[in-house]
Amino acid sequence: MRKLRADYAFVPDLKKGVFSPMANPCITVDESGKIIAIQEYSSPDSNSGKEDGIEYYNGVFVPGFINAHCHIELSHLFGAFEQASGMSGFINQINALRESVDERGRFEAMKQQFNLLSTQGVVAVSDISNCSESFALKRQFLNLVHSDSEELFPVYYRTFVELFGTEESDAEQILKRGEKIAEQAVQMGLKASVTPHSPYTMSPKLLKITTLRGLKSGEISYHSQESQEEEDMIMYGTGALAENYRGRGLSMPEPANTTALEYFLNTVTATSTDGLAKIEGRVNLVHNVVLSQRSIDAAKRVITEPFFTVCPLSNIFIHRALPPLDLMRENNLAICVGTDSLSSNTILSMVEEMRCIEQNFPHIPLGEILQWACRNGAKALGIEERCGSLQVGKTPGIVLIQNLRDFHLTPQSRSVRIV
Ligand SMILES: [Zn+2]
Repeated sequence: MRKLRADYAFVPDLKKGVFSPMANPCITVDESGKIIAIQEYSSPDSNSGKEDGIEYYNGVFVPGFINAHCHIELSHLFGAFEQASGMSGFINQINALRESVDERGRFEAMKQQFNLLSTQGVVAVSDISNCSESFALKRQFLNLVHSDSEELFPVYYRTFVELFGTEESDAEQILKRGEKIAEQAVQMGLKASVTPHSPYTMSPKLLKITTLRGLKSGEISYHSQESQEEEDMIMYGTGALAENYRGRGLSMPEPANTTALEYFLNTVTATSTDGLAKIEGRVNLVHNVVLSQRSIDAAKRVITEPFFTVCPLSNIFIHRALPPLDLMRENNLAICVGTDSLSSNTILSMVEEMRCIEQNFPHIPLGEILQWACRNGAKALGIEERCGSLQVGKTPGIVLIQNLRDFHLTPQSRSVRIV
């Protein structure tokens, strides 16, 4: 049993529906990290913080973060990519650089990021894999037992084996190969299934069969409306991305005359074979940089549980653009926050992603952004029962954020996991 005090704790505010700061909290946890009680600490002695058996921290408690989009296996690409390249420039770089570091180097780079995410307070990750290189470390972190002598904490990685392939004739074979990789992960005790990459990297057939297969696991993750180039290619077959594909002799979907998100929904629900009228399950739409009201309406109509993940630092890195967060808030969307990978980011840090949101959208309260980074991410992964908020009965992980100013993140703000 531990009793923990800090200056504030962000706890669910039932009236406002977001997290609000509670002053002078004292949180009691059992040996497993489960929260037994959250009370306001009142003692004439409270300033000394020296009461026997109570740990006092200078800063603010928040629940463990859920990184709602990451490609941890691309960690070796740190510093390798040119910024502001646009989507087609990014794709050229990833094709050229993916194997630029040997296996040992890739493993070491990954391990460093596994450790950092753990110590900084990420308790779960929605992670994209194209191969099995990250599985051993994922298993290690899933089964890790924290003891006071170490600084590492366990982290749950939900693996999505991402599929792509522009040629219709390869679709069945690509799905089969992907399922083998996912099966490897499952054999190692990990939760894993296949997931579609994006509308522009997949034949309509592969997009459909992969989505339907992935949904059987309850959830998929899908790169959606990341750039105007993607939107132009899917809508009209024009723009830099379409030219890139033509130059490489790759197939593209017929111009859809709809937004890229509507194209996805229409392709998956097309009634020709085993199409569904609705897409049932948790669908994590990632990026949403060019999300529009029209796409939002369509997503709400078709997907039973849609989530909209933003990766602001990655969007700035590649496109110098950000998702329309105010439009997303007006529509009451379940917004989540992810770091994406070190190929399109200079750091994997949930605090830095939240600070980027605060800087660019200063009217959004930190309590709301924390709700995205914790509770909504937990919902997207189906782990809300145990994670995502500081509430009695949950085992959410307790994270300390230091160096806030008036409940705003500063360049000095850091997070560290306490429980
Ligand atoms: Zn991604």
